[in-house]
Amino acid sequence: MRGFEPITERSTSSLNASIEIEPLIPCDEVSLNGIYLTLNTNVHPRLTVDSTPSKLLIGVSRCLLGDGVRFDGGHKHNRYLTDVLGEYFDWMRFCPEVEAGMGTPRPALRLADDGVKLRVVSSDGFDYTDDLDSAFERREPDLRSAGLRGYIFRRGSPSCGLYRVKRYQDGRATRDAQGVFARRVQTLWPNIPCEEGGRLNDMRLRENFIQRVYTYHRWRSFADDTPTLSGLFAFHAEHKYLILAHDQRAARTLGRMVAHAERVTLADTLVEYESQLMTALSRTPSIKSQINTLQHLQGFVKKHMTSRDKNEFERIVHQYRKGVVPLITPLTLLRHHLDRWGSDWARTQVYLSPYPEDLALRSHLTA
Ligand code: SF4
Repeated sequence: MRGFEPITERSTSSLNASIEIEPLIPCDEVSLNGIYLTLNTNVHPRLTVDSTPSKLLIGVSRCLLGDGVRFDGGHKHNRYLTDVLGEYFDWMRFCPEVEAGMGTPRPALRLADDGVKLRVVSSDGFDYTDDLDSAFERREPDLRSAGLRGYIFRRGSPSCGLYRVKRYQDGRATRDAQGVFARRVQTLWPNIPCEEGGRLNDMRLRENFIQRVYTYHRWRSFADDTPTLSGLFAFHAEHKYLILAHDQRAARTLGRMVAHAERVTLADTLVEYESQLMTALSRTPSIKSQINTLQHLQGFVKKHMTSRDKNEFERIVHQYRKGVVPLITPLTLLRHHLDRWGSDWARTQVYLSPYPEDLALRSHLTA
């Protein structure tokens, strides 16, 4: 298991069973009990998830894909999702408000705090909280069994917003709530990578989200497939420097957890490891921690590097620190030396290639 490799497995057994149904005709969307899956039919002549083994399945607010499901019949099409990420992800699109039986168009909703519970009410005074809860509960088994590797929500929505959604109480609005659907997704699956579509315009948040999605996929592929203690050692060894870049303390804690894993049951260790791993990765690496990681990895080949090589590496790292070059520049130079002199262990660190390189995310990461 190293960095990014073509993905050959995904826990989609129940999905496949449901999707391999007629009509098997060219079409870019298929509904699975009301949840829409978008498949790229240029690549998928037949509507089966297995036909795109290299794509990961991501949940998404429907309006972000251009579906006119907003209260006013409009959408919030995010072109980065459809035009770029669509090459790597299949979408499980879902609109909780449509699923709850509200038509389109419909009155706008907002979160009202009655002091006991956050309620979702419409501008004409109707309370939709129970309808939204029921819609979630109806769809939960499908969401649970789909093998999602991440979720992208529409910001600000009382249903889908992940951060800073307006909460109304006693006539005052405070931006400190989560949409009711987003909250339920995060409560049920606290480790699944989640982000808001709009925040993906920030290059650091974008890179962080995609890195978490691919790491979560590698983890699930390991944890869902007869995990062993030696497998956990291997997983941790390969991810050691990726974790270090995000959170030095977590890297130490996880290292100790793996080293002492024989003292507790493997099942308990896996639960705790997954939680701490995904929490650590949700911290965006600083420039300092990226440089620290680069220098640690350089340590594996330093003795083979000439003074000129070392000076050149130092100069490029300095340029990265100053914002003159992006992260990909010192990283490429480091990979060159690791490929030449590094051990297999150093060369196969996931940090060096955590997702498909064509995404070019590190070409935009500057100080
Ligand atoms: S934000 Fe969520 S609830 Fe609102 S239209 Fe988009 S998918 Fe539907």
